[in-house]
Amino acid sequence: MLLWITLTRDSLDSMLKMKKLSLKASCLCGGIELKTKGYHRDVHNCHCIQCMKTHGHHAAYTAVEEQNIKFIKKRTLKWFQSSKKGKRGFCKKCGASIFFKSIGQKDIHISAGMFNRPVKLKTTMHIFVKGKLDYYKLEQYMPKFKSYPKGGK
Ligand SMILES: [Zn+2]
Ligand SMILES: [Zn+2]
Repeated sequence: MLLWITLTRDSLDSMLKMKKLSLKASCLCGGIELKTKGYHRDVHNCHCIQCMKTHGHHAAYTAVEEQNIKFIKKRTLKWFQSSKKGKRGFCKKCGASIFFKSIGQKDIHISAGMFNRPVKLKTTMHIFVKGKLDYYKLEQYMPKFKSYPKGGK
């Protein structure tokens, strides 16, 4: 009985955080166009120093399994190895910061501002808030984490 309750809670939890969607996204110049399908994670705002430096502000990422991305065009897509564990995908023509990929993980993070509207996703938390700069404030009601929340990715 106890086990059943735990499983139900876990699946409810994942249902609240993931949405099954089909979305289209593109960069500013149109050199990169893609479609996503399957489960999309809610948007997390990342304030780590690397995101701040590459986006010029905090990042706002959803995430999907990499196999659920289908590229229509990617001739201007370039990758930058931003750390030992991660790389970032950007458009070499217009400079759009598009992807963050943790090496060895199934999921890829996609900048939520790339999508055509409506996105139907919600921003649910702030992560790596240690990297936040002092020129902006975080909403009182939104959960904040020093790094990732427990069990998050
Ligand atoms: Zn571009
Ligand atoms: Zn970050």
